[in-house]
Amino acid sequence: MRARILGAFPVEVRARMPTLFEKIVAGEIPATIVHQDDRVTAFRDIAPQAPVHVLIIPNKPIPTVNDVTAEDERTLGHMFVVARDIAKREGIADDGFRLIVNCNKHGGQVVYHLHMHLVGGRPLGAMLAGGTHG
Ligand code: AMP
Repeated sequence: MRARILGAFPVEVRARMPTLFEKIVAGEIPATIVHQDDRVTAFRDIAPQAPVHVLIIPNKPIPTVNDVTAEDERTLGHMFVVARDIAKREGIADDGFRLIVNCNKHGGQVVYHLHMHLVGGRPLGAMLAGGTHG
């Protein structure tokens, strides 16, 4: 609910408010953490959409993909390495999985702390809901 409320604020205001996910990184809000290092934290999604649903986030609170800078390249690349390792550990690497990063309103972003969804453990169906374009 808090994340939805935050979504109503302008980007400049949101940038100064600690995100829900920053609090998870800091251990102030409970989460099932499956990986943490100096750049990235990964934890199970509270409302899983598939048997495996893990969120991989930069510890640094980048609000959206629009806010990514060249400085973030190493961390963002590291998120893929962490995703690979978690997928392997969860036993879904060979069957396959999906990585999703939502951005802003049309992307369906709810929490304004950039995150990669790692989902798998069942066939995931068509890439997008809502039919075709054009
Ligand atoms: P998005 O729509 O891409 O912003 O996704 C936000 C995700 O965060 C959703 O899948 C939520 O279920 C998940 N989420 C929200 N709060 C928590 C929380 N406290 N712990 C774990 N996952 C959460």
